[in-house]
Amino acid sequence: MKDSLAIPALTEDLARVLIDADTINRRVDELARQISSDYADAESDLILVGVLKGSFIFIADLARKLNVKHVVDFIALSSYHGDHSGNVRLLMDTRENMEDKDVLIIEDILDSGNTLDYLIRNFKTRNPKSVKTAVLLDKPDRHILPVEIDYIGFTIPDVWVVGYGLDYNEKHRTLPYIAEMYPQA
Ligand code: 5GP
Ligand code: MG
Ligand code: MG
Repeated sequence: MKDSLAIPALTEDLARVLIDADTINRRVDELARQISSDYADAESDLILVGVLKGSFIFIADLARKLNVKHVVDFIALSSYHGDHSGNVRLLMDTRENMEDKDVLIIEDILDSGNTLDYLIRNFKTRNPKSVKTAVLLDKPDRHILPVEIDYIGFTIPDVWVVGYGLDYNEKHRTLPYIAEMYPQA
């Protein structure tokens, strides 16, 4: 049988594979184990809130490895990369009632911190039992707001990355690995 699951080659706009699919898979495994152990004694189902669109693959993989009862929800925000005003706009809200529930925000990448700062403050007004955060990638060189992250997949340098949910103008989102882009003109 012909191998239909070949790893897609790098296109000319991509400089290198930063994190390959196996490495991502192993790290998501570790995160799932840690999260499952931390919420093992929780009294109600954990609410996972994926931040669209970038986290959709991460949340799908992570959720399927969890060993604790959970529900999946999503939120969509608009934030403009490079806009340091901190403006974040809510495009689509969650549907689950968070009151007295444990909430875990699932985000693709922590950059300036504006998105997660906004989300944590917003969710805390909804009287949840707890709000924690899991990010696949962290770019510490770009933090502007101090945000406390509970689970971090990988720390990366200040480069534009795509794949595994992350895009460049909607391109490259479904690559199975995380690649570094050449700086765009
Ligand atoms: P924030 O600056 O609020 O921490 O992050 C805002 C958003 O910018 C992230 O959720 C992500 O969607 C986007 N972002 C930041 N760095 C990158 C990157 O290297 N690649 C991609 N695809 N998106 C990024
Ligand atoms: Mg995001
Ligand atoms: Mg994007």
